[in-house]
Amino acid sequence: MSKIAFIGLGIMGGPMAGHLVRAGHEVTGYDVAQEGVDRLVAAGGTGAAGVAEAVAEAEIVITMLPQDEHVETVIFGDESAGGDGGSDDGGVLRHAKPGVLLIDFSTVRPETSIKVAAAGRELGLRVLDAPVSGGEQGAVDAVLSIMVGGAPEDVEAAAPIFEVVGRTYERVGGSGAGQYVKAANQLIVGGTYALVAEAIVLMEAAGVDAAAGLDVIAGGLAASRILDIKRESMLARRFQPGFRIDLHHKDMGIASAAARSAEVSLPMTALVAQLIAAARAKGYGSLDHSALLKVVEELSGRTAA
Ligand code: NAD
Repeated sequence: MSKIAFIGLGIMGGPMAGHLVRAGHEVTGYDVAQEGVDRLVAAGGTGAAGVAEAVAEAEIVITMLPQDEHVETVIFGDESAGGDGGSDDGGVLRHAKPGVLLIDFSTVRPETSIKVAAAGRELGLRVLDAPVSGGEQGAVDAVLSIMVGGAPEDVEAAAPIFEVVGRTYERVGGSGAGQYVKAANQLIVGGTYALVAEAIVLMEAAGVDAAAGLDVIAGGLAASRILDIKRESMLARRFQPGFRIDLHHKDMGIASAAARSAEVSLPMTALVAQLIAAARAKGYGSLDHSALLKVVEELSGRTAA
């Protein structure tokens, strides 16, 4: 059993940290939002007042933060980046002991993961980028899919953690590789939501039974996990997150930049990125990404059926 520092106790990090506590690990958590820390303490973990306190005794440091700037703030300290603050005591790199295994579960740009890994390695840390897929429910049920970039021996060392919070994990290459796979994952998820939304708008406009329609579609070749777990809430226009449009907008930006640096053309990704940008511009940023349905129906002059 390990001493773990867990930084970022939000929608995903909260349940993941709880699973690690129940698996017998000593988990010390920090979040700028006190609510996340309180939830960890209620689950049997220990609360910390900042990054320095959280990582002081840790053998494993885990981060699960929203965006690149938050990861940079927490890892490097406030001097090198903006973000929400709360870690002006120098960041993980200043306070973690050499040999510590740093697992970043956040979805960020591959370049950020590569920069963090290089800086960590210089100080004798072992660093993995390990973005996840499976959504809030996947975190709650501990069945996440984890895409891991880093050294094979470090992935092996992290296996006991991955097995607690996830069902599938795979090393996909060196530092940053996990983020490229996550970008590929997000463009599939965004595209699928857009098409499920179009299917709903079409069926409702044609006056057919959209619920029965989606049931039968979910049994055929167009079956998908998104249809399985989201069709009811989409039909009922329940868009409580889940995964916020704001975060998917960030992820489509990562996918678009990754396509550019890999010198490939991804036209569907570009289109879906614009629809998600429209959702955000319309003020739906804090709704679940299934709220793409609102954009698609507004394009046809329709509002909730
Ligand atoms: P969230 O906003 O619910 O949680 C992030 C937490 O980080 C918040 O509680 C916030 O207060 C905290 N935080 C921000 N800056 C901090 C700082 N400087 N120090 C300490 N804590 C800080 O976001 P989430 O939905 O849990 O997503 C986290 C990451 O996981 C994102 O990169 C997201 O893209 C990715 N992800 C989310 C989902 C999902 O369904 N929600 C699924 C897969 C991947």
